[in-house]
Amino acid sequence: MSLKIIPKEKMGEFVANMMGAYRVVGPRQKEHQYVFGPIENLDELHLDYNTTILPPKKYLLPQHESLFKFNADTFDAELTIDDQPTVILGVHTCDLHAIQLLDQVFQRDHLDQHYMARRENTILIGIECLEPCDDHSFCKSMGTLTPPTGCYDLHLTDIGDSYAVDVETEKGAWLVVRHAEARDADDEDYKRINNILSEKWPRFPYKLDFDVGELPALMSVSQKSPLWQQLGEICLACGSCTNVCPTCYCFDMRDKVGLSLTDGYRERFWDSCQLDEFALVAGGHDFRPSRAARQRHRFFRKGKYQTDAYGLLGCVGCGRCGRACLVEITPVTTFNELYRQRTGGVR
Ligand code: SF4
Ligand code: SF4
Repeated sequence: MSLKIIPKEKMGEFVANMMGAYRVVGPRQKEHQYVFGPIENLDELHLDYNTTILPPKKYLLPQHESLFKFNADTFDAELTIDDQPTVILGVHTCDLHAIQLLDQVFQRDHLDQHYMARRENTILIGIECLEPCDDHSFCKSMGTLTPPTGCYDLHLTDIGDSYAVDVETEKGAWLVVRHAEARDADDEDYKRINNILSEKWPRFPYKLDFDVGELPALMSVSQKSPLWQQLGEICLACGSCTNVCPTCYCFDMRDKVGLSLTDGYRERFWDSCQLDEFALVAGGHDFRPSRAARQRHRFFRKGKYQTDAYGLLGCVGCGRCGRACLVEITPVTTFNELYRQRTGGVR
């Protein structure tokens, strides 16, 4: 829509003004790492963070949430919807791509009213990554180093003494008009931004040995790869990889009843396809009893199934699963090994 400039000395005022009208969450330091959390004091906000332990997904699909309350005697049920107006500030481009996928998942075919209520009341402010998070990230290979159109409201780029603000939606435009002291970008600003964006590109390495466009086809011919057995033998089935993943959205539900045994609520909580009983169904059949089968399933979700279903990749290259895995199972080594087995590494 437009490009605005907010001087850095005015950024604190912008955030403080938003804090008066919304719950503002953003990257905060936690010991030597970063987490997305509520910003109550400007000093807590670290827009120059590398990565966060959990992705900002947790504010759209919380680890635990109540779906409805019920009374077991009267059979009354009441929806519990969390639609608190929220600004998620400082979302990296890989995490924006992940939210774009979640938006498809939770509104295509079946509208998930809890996700949608939060999403509609959330303003997303992205931030351009100018350096790779660390050795684990492979966003450039996955095509997520630039923000996805139609997903964010505002997108910030650090241009030295100011932030350039790409205004993408009406909501974002209103936020700037209402809460920021901003001016229109001029020719000099455009030149600076273009220089910064072209200079950043070589800093990010390609990690995949092939073009990501080939990934779904590679997966299709990798069903019987011996790699799945090898991964299954070392995987601890801890579920850390899926818990930290911005594109994983599997959940389970259970009813929680109070001491009266009448009032209760239905809870939705994150689940993991890597856990033992994930695919166990009534009657006792387990569709994926071995760790090898669960690893294969996970990587097919990342490399093929989501692309088939939504036209979007199921992995955005954030590197969180590789950082979290104690036995160093990563998408890069897995996909590259499948490619090597298929081609001998020859492009
Ligand atoms: S699979 Fe790993 S690298 Fe890919 S999006 Fe999930 S956590 Fe990030
Ligand atoms: S984090 Fe590693 S060990 Fe744990 S379930 Fe995932 S792949 Fe297996």
